[in-house]
Amino acid sequence: MIVEPKTRGFICTTAHPVGCAARVAEQIDYVQGEGELPAKYKNVLVIGASTGYGLASRIVASFGLGAKTLGVFFEREADGNRTASAGWYNSAAFEKAAQKAGLYARSINGDAFSENIKQQTIDCIKQDLDGKVDLVIYSLASPRRQDPTGTLYTSVLKPIGNPYKDKTVDIVSGVVSNVELAPAKPEEIIATEKVMGGEDWALWVDALIAADVLAPNATTVAYSYIGPEMTYPIYREGTIGVAKSHLERTAHELNVRLAKHCNGTAIVSVNKGLVTQASAAIPVVPLYISLLYKVMKQKNIHEGCIEQIYRLFKDFLCVDNMKLDDAQRIRIDDLELRDDVQQEIAQLWGNMTTENLPEISDIVGFRKEFFQLFGFEVDNVDYTKDVDINVQIPSIHLETV
Ligand code: NAD
Repeated sequence: MIVEPKTRGFICTTAHPVGCAARVAEQIDYVQGEGELPAKYKNVLVIGASTGYGLASRIVASFGLGAKTLGVFFEREADGNRTASAGWYNSAAFEKAAQKAGLYARSINGDAFSENIKQQTIDCIKQDLDGKVDLVIYSLASPRRQDPTGTLYTSVLKPIGNPYKDKTVDIVSGVVSNVELAPAKPEEIIATEKVMGGEDWALWVDALIAADVLAPNATTVAYSYIGPEMTYPIYREGTIGVAKSHLERTAHELNVRLAKHCNGTAIVSVNKGLVTQASAAIPVVPLYISLLYKVMKQKNIHEGCIEQIYRLFKDFLCVDNMKLDDAQRIRIDDLELRDDVQQEIAQLWGNMTTENLPEISDIVGFRKEFFQLFGFEVDNVDYTKDVDINVQIPSIHLETV
């Protein structure tokens, strides 16, 4: 079948298997080109392993460190004429490349917020990973979560206290317009914290502790974002920021529990703003990222997910005394937040219109990367060719035959 992109708002409802595989191969090539990292971690669990920062983490752990990886994600298999989701194709391509390179990789597809998937993961660690993991990456981004009581929470991306007015862009049409967002209701703030805060991360760590599947000195890392002041009203001081503050407080609590249990560590890494399925959904953020990409590319300091995560492992997770900020967080958003970068963005922001957007921002690069998330607009892929959309993820397929 010929697969074409079909967009609805900020999501693309189709994905191209060959394009997704090519993008995974590019990330693997990058890691192999940068060279091996110290094999500090041998058995790595990545929760949210199929796209964005989680996929990059799995690729670096596997192809950079030679670790065994167990990936958990929630993706859709192809059904009739409906393509699988991008994360499904990414994971299939990742597992096949890992197998070829003689690297262990197994995946679990299902709701990571559920007790059932936590238990399946623990069973797999006991069975396949010498009974222990030494690194747990928590990289979930989800619009909703059903907690253990059965209550379903839906997160919102809204300001708190006052309405927020600013410019935003329609990624597909490139039209810049003004957006006004009403402040969140108290219950929406709580719901967003329930979904994107640290509660589920803590449930995972507690389940791993209770099952005794954490190796001595095990480390767990969750990803956060801060961004520049200009996005504070919608990000850091908005509902998602409340959730991220909760995630960061959770790291301190988990750190105490892990230190006692296995001399382990829980830590938050503050990453750079990037085009991913999660970030494309946040109002104002795509416009900011389009300017950020332009300025950072001009200064030759641009990084994508794989460059960010390779640096995270090389400069922080694989060294003995990692340098942290005053709040005990890893900061790989340092280049994004450099004064010269932010000053240029602030100047451009004021003058932005639909007409001058292609010239002053990297909206073209943003749009291309957005489609590449779904396997489209990838160099050297022939989109006129018929492709088989029914692609198996080897480890998941094995379990079901
Ligand atoms: P993403 O949308 O690319 O990836 C989300 C992952 O979570 C996917 O693997 C998906 O399958 C998985 N997932 C979602 N719901 C699930 C569920 N119920 N059960 C199992 N798996 C589920 O997101 P991303 O942008 O890579 O974000 C990952 C983390 O990094 C988030 O915490 C995000 O806040 C943080 N972060 C993102 C940015 C950015 O700009 N994108 C910047 C800094 C930090």
